[in-house]
Amino acid sequence: MSQDIYVVIEHLRGQVADISYVLCAAARQLAAASGGQVVGVLLGHNVQGLAQDVAVDRLLVMDDPQLADFIPDRYQQALAGLLSAQAPRVTLFGDTSIGAELAGGLSVQLGWPLVSYCRSVRADDGRLLYISQLCGGKVMAEGEIPAPHALLAMVPGGFQAEQGKRTSPPPVETVASAAVGGRITLKQYIEPESGDVDISKEAILVSVGRGIQNADNIEMVQELAAALGGVVSASRPVVDQGWLPTTRLVGKSGKRVKPRLYLALGISGAPEHAEAITDSQTIIAVNTDASAPIFDIARYGTTLDLFDLVPALTEKVRQAKQ
Ligand SMILES: Cc1cc2nc3c(=O)[nH]c(=O)nc-3n(C[C@H](O)[C@H](O)[C@H](O)COP(=O)(O)OP(=O)(O)OC[C@H]3O[C@@H](n4cnc5c(N)ncnc54)[C@H](O)[C@@H]3O)c2cc1C
Repeated sequence: MSQDIYVVIEHLRGQVADISYVLCAAARQLAAASGGQVVGVLLGHNVQGLAQDVAVDRLLVMDDPQLADFIPDRYQQALAGLLSAQAPRVTLFGDTSIGAELAGGLSVQLGWPLVSYCRSVRADDGRLLYISQLCGGKVMAEGEIPAPHALLAMVPGGFQAEQGKRTSPPPVETVASAAVGGRITLKQYIEPESGDVDISKEAILVSVGRGIQNADNIEMVQELAAALGGVVSASRPVVDQGWLPTTRLVGKSGKRVKPRLYLALGISGAPEHAEAITDSQTIIAVNTDASAPIFDIARYGTTLDLFDLVPALTEKVRQAKQ
């Protein structure tokens, strides 16, 4: 039985997704314990030259015009053929729109168990263990990665992307594609609108969550953002309520952000939000609940009430600038 750890390298519009490096970092930890190799799997068309910095022992490239765009059923067929033939011990996917769809379909097709929302992995006395972040991050479930084969869909947070990079290109092997036509075709790729501001490019984000209570209180946060020279972004409940436009949404269904400062006000840190802020240089969390998962990824935090803190902080920032 193979002890190799496979990583499905996610990419879009010619860019390797950050989650791929996180997967490589996790895979290295698992491979050190299983005694296998870390093997990257790259699907696409004209993708030679992509993923040259992923920390894998070898990179399998399946290059096929049918795989030029991410079409779920084609990618699934191509991967099902490869994985059933090579039977790795564990295969890692990002728990992203692309990765979660593939991992779920493959789990059914191959009959291999899938662990979703996996935040970290570790080895203990020869056993491979996962920690999965359930119920919006409120429950951390630890278990043994099922044998002989398992699929893991990972959220960011447990490993640094930097740990999954290498400086020299990995050895590349070309593998035959088993992609089939499928029922779905891509008609058009629509770039999301950047709208009033592009929060993915802002250096300072003051982000507001359900803890803000109602639309009228957003103004207070806008004043703090203006004093700091940043802009306001939000978690999903705030956008769903229509208190801020969708262009300000941070998270799985919004934008990934990488500001110098991410100030999270009244945000719990659910996985769908947290996965999009892990590239921030500094995260500061303000949340009255000391057990909120946002504190797991924040560098600084306070359990002060945001309604006490925000006006006082705005005043202090203004004074400091005079
Ligand atoms: C498929 C899918 C996609 C999703 N996509 C996204 C996405 O893109 N972005 C996103 O954000 N979510 C997304 N979600 C929703 C996500 O699961 C969470 O429900 C959401 O992030 C919670 O938002 P929140 O932290 O603002 O609210 P809550 O989880 O309700 O947290 C509010 C926090 O405010 C704190 N608080 C309350 N009052 C105060 C106060 N006075 N001072 C300080 N702190 C206070 C509370 O302690 C609490 O922790 C998605 C969910 C699914 C299923």
